[in-house]
Amino acid sequence: MSPARPQDAARRHDPARAYDIANLIDGQLVPGGGAAADPARDPSTGVVLAEVPRSSPEDVDRAVAAARRAFPGWRALSPGERAAHLNALADALQQDLKAFAEIESRNAGKPIAAVPDEIDYCVDNIRFLAGAARNLQAPAAGEYVTGATSFVRREPVGVVGAIAPWNYPLMMAVWKFAPALAGGCTVVLKPSELTPLSTLRLAALAADLLPPGVLNIVTGDGPVGAQLAAHPDVAMVSVTGSVATGRKVAAAAAPGLKRLHLELGGKAPVVVLDDADVEALAAALRATSFGNAGQDCTAACRVIATPGVYGRVVEALTAAAASLRTGPTDDPTCELGPLISPAQRARVAGFVERAVAAGASVTTGGTVPDGPGAYYPATVVIGPDQDAEIVQQEVFGPVVTVQMAPDRERALEMAADVPYGLAASVWTADAGFALRAAAELRFGAVWVNDHITGCSEMPHGGFGQSGYGRDLSGYALDHYCEPRHVMVRW
Ligand code: NAD
Repeated sequence: MSPARPQDAARRHDPARAYDIANLIDGQLVPGGGAAADPARDPSTGVVLAEVPRSSPEDVDRAVAAARRAFPGWRALSPGERAAHLNALADALQQDLKAFAEIESRNAGKPIAAVPDEIDYCVDNIRFLAGAARNLQAPAAGEYVTGATSFVRREPVGVVGAIAPWNYPLMMAVWKFAPALAGGCTVVLKPSELTPLSTLRLAALAADLLPPGVLNIVTGDGPVGAQLAAHPDVAMVSVTGSVATGRKVAAAAAPGLKRLHLELGGKAPVVVLDDADVEALAAALRATSFGNAGQDCTAACRVIATPGVYGRVVEALTAAAASLRTGPTDDPTCELGPLISPAQRARVAGFVERAVAAGASVTTGGTVPDGPGAYYPATVVIGPDQDAEIVQQEVFGPVVTVQMAPDRERALEMAADVPYGLAASVWTADAGFALRAAAELRFGAVWVNDHITGCSEMPHGGFGQSGYGRDLSGYALDHYCEPRHVMVRW
């Protein structure tokens, strides 16, 4: 089975069409057959870009059946052959980068200048995972029992139900399907009902580049995802989303004892000691607290500073937040776009209002602007208590809290004192303390003098209410490929 050339992808994706809105089921592009449709909007204006028909229960059944039929043939390909298909998809994505960037910017409200890097990262993620599946690790074959040879086989788990969120629509889709397909699984993927358009354009490319049924894409909202999660022919469910959704998916998967991969929320602490480089910190937080309008599960949203640096941190962070340029998302100078929806903005504003009512102060931002779109300013809230909801719960907006810790030991305790465990950073020149903090903070990623920087080779995932399982890296493949023992008695 030789992979199609990327230029063949133009056959089904019509460049004259603004948006592709068809499901991909068994290699065919077919509109969802549900009774309702979900409007895909531009959050910067509220304008409906496309009405996306919701999938019917029969669509989901057909997609799962197609994935099931495709599984034996796909898993029988060599890892190199599967990688060739995935690399062809990566090439097509790269060739179509500008169009994907524009769609992602419009549908997810992202500043246009920020999106090409996201798409490039998706291309790199696919290529890395395609290659990593050619190099699965296991103990050496050998005689671990006298007179018998043992070895390990790594087997794909089967059909994967993959459910993605709205904040990085294409990237989260890639993080789900790339390791699963590379490892030999087949996939039914559901994008968020709020931001399906980039994933549906990918469906139009994949229709020509992957064998039928290997990757199926179905539109729809929570109930469509719930049907997928509970489907008896789905062996594993992989979801990135909120903690509430993760719990529901875990409950739906329990009767079938399905494998689960849950990438949920975060509440990343940023521990700043007296000897930190405040200028570097402010530059990093400008990008990583407010990038994607703070709608990032690893966003640097909870600064904890020791007394000798607290004042300088507040001043530098306030100036950095106030300097962000906002505006229409198609303006290349825009740095801070809108939130995903007016409902999300009301939620974010509510957190800030309640924090202020409880005694915290706002040094910049904090007011809902007039005008169209779900814009909310970069906001710094100082002095909330450790048990305040704005410290304990995920806000998912451009809002950073700053707290003072009496000393560095208490700073570490405050950092750890949340239900989440996804990402953290420590800012200090003391290498010994940094290493101890990295060891003691039970977060899936800990950065020292940096925040958020990731790469395809390193794992991403959480502890506690942030879920379990890992995206990216060779560890992602572990979830989709079960190890098996084969023993041959001599
Ligand atoms: P969400 O939980 O509302 O939705 C996520 C997806 O789940 C959507 O596709 C939705 O349609 C689907 N869904 C909703 N109810 C479902 C159900 N009962 N069964 C199956 N599927 C269902 O999340 P969101 O608002 O789209 O995304 C924001 C959340 O995602 C935030 O909490 C954020 O922290 C989290 N997130 C986590 C990571 C990570 O890697 N840990 C990355 C990005 C986003």
